[in-house]
Amino acid sequence: MKLFSNARRILQQYFGFSTFRPGQEAMIKHVLNGQNALALMPTGGGKSLCYQIPGLIMDGTALIISPLISLMKDQVDALNALEISATYINSSLSHAEQRERLDNLQAGLYRFLYIAPERFESREFMDVIRSIPLSLIAFDEAHCISQWGHDFRPSYRSITSTLQQIPNLPVTIALTATATDAVIRDIQQILSITPEDTVNTGFARENLHFQVLKGIDKTDFILQYIQSHEKESGIIYCPTRKVTDRIYQLLDERGLKAARYHAGMSEVARQQAQSDFIQDEATIMVATNAFGMGIDKSNVRYVIHYALPMNLESYYQEAGRAGRDGEPSQCYLLFAAQDIQLQRFLIERSFMDEQNKEREYEKLQAMANYGHTDRCLQQYILAYFGEDVEELRCGRCSNCNDEGEKEDRTREAQMILSCVKRMGERYGATITAQVLKGSKNKRVLELGFDRLSTYNLLPHYTEKTIVNWIHYLLADGYLYIQDPKYLNLALTPKANDVLKGEALVWIRQQAEESQATREFDDELFDHLRALRKQIADEQLLPPYLIFSDATLRDMCRF
Ligand code: ADP
Ligand code: MG
Ligand code: ZN
Repeated sequence: MKLFSNARRILQQYFGFSTFRPGQEAMIKHVLNGQNALALMPTGGGKSLCYQIPGLIMDGTALIISPLISLMKDQVDALNALEISATYINSSLSHAEQRERLDNLQAGLYRFLYIAPERFESREFMDVIRSIPLSLIAFDEAHCISQWGHDFRPSYRSITSTLQQIPNLPVTIALTATATDAVIRDIQQILSITPEDTVNTGFARENLHFQVLKGIDKTDFILQYIQSHEKESGIIYCPTRKVTDRIYQLLDERGLKAARYHAGMSEVARQQAQSDFIQDEATIMVATNAFGMGIDKSNVRYVIHYALPMNLESYYQEAGRAGRDGEPSQCYLLFAAQDIQLQRFLIERSFMDEQNKEREYEKLQAMANYGHTDRCLQQYILAYFGEDVEELRCGRCSNCNDEGEKEDRTREAQMILSCVKRMGERYGATITAQVLKGSKNKRVLELGFDRLSTYNLLPHYTEKTIVNWIHYLLADGYLYIQDPKYLNLALTPKANDVLKGEALVWIRQQAEESQATREFDDELFDHLRALRKQIADEQLLPPYLIFSDATLRDMCRF
């Protein structure tokens, strides 16, 4: 273990840290022992040191494969600042520059070389790789290797045969902060890593405070929050360019130091915004989800989502850009039920095959449930990624800290569940609520639902309240969506316990929806109308599921 005592020395001398973070020590030991290893550690957990320290101890060049080209330069700069020889070769370089770096590589001048997976397809590159001593090969963002990962890169498809072409293949290390069980098994299999050499610290982010806010005026919240946290760095994710521009302008008018970033801006303007933010020239970044891939800024104190993203993978990744330095940080989701509609619509109109669409719908439903659940939010996220954390209460999230009174709603839940059953488990939340409310809506009457025994069982509540309860019953697993395309509710076994009177249902009082007038995004409206025309023309949906102008308009108000 002499090698390992070197590791501790390097940690202090080169990097200036006195102790290892969880998982780092175990990973470094595996690698120094020559065992391929996989690190499952949260964002900001310190995965880089797991290959950087062995790379400094062992002879030869360490090859780091990362799909994030934008991050390579930063990582290389950081190593160079510590007087460690490192470089990258990627498509941002001219051919002459690439050739020069290849020659240097051949001459053994680099301890660390960062590349994108595509580089393996270059013969010129592979010829050099085959002829030089390598200390290790590290796959950063290793979930991209797996077809089950949400970010699969086709250039990884031939990775096994590529590795076979390297004589004296060194030890291989893989690292990721997002992987379901299927993805983990895939990585282990592709890179020959045993479960014993897999170091799993869990993906929990102890310093993140997850908060779901409902029924608020989003713009007001943002202005108030930013004004009372003016000195702190943060990101506001907006659902459209137009919302991005509007929020940016509001902050700018108030003299707040904001930058903005979306795909409608020029490359130069985006680069400028990004570097202003990274260098703290601008404290607030207002952006669409085009921003952030490969951003490594450690002091982001909050991430606010103006509307929900399409799935929890994206949410955890985007929200997780807060607090990489380990300091307490806030992750707000400003939740409004109609934002889900928009996402559903976009999935429907995307160019995916039916099977993929179905998967996306399910993921979106899990994201929506995040907004409705009253379980611990950190627990909810970890459970989604397959971690066994049933008992977890983080004590930091808005659900753990909610003082709001819960009420015994068992009777109402029983009525809702029986109504779903009576309607044959074939209908969605809106019409179910209308039946319970005793609505004389045309469709209710046409389908003869006014003759059901569950008709008019909840006349004293608004349709909205009933829909909210249904969402809660969905989020906490009493109901599920049988066919995501039609959004039809069906009962789970848990529901039967409630119907039999063997389980109680406590629901927290919901905040009233904000009366704030929302701003209309005409750009998005035109876009959605064009999509709707395609849906109708191609008969992708039955006519009664095709949204009216009024519904589309509602989706475009933020
Ligand atoms: P990841 O790749 O897991 O998201 P990084 O490797 O980028 O995380 O590290 C995140 C931050 O944590 C960096 O600023 C890094 O310098 C710091 N860090 C890593 N290891 C340690 C340690 N043992 N002690 C203190 N800080 C550390
Ligand atoms: Mg990293
Ligand atoms: Zn919690």
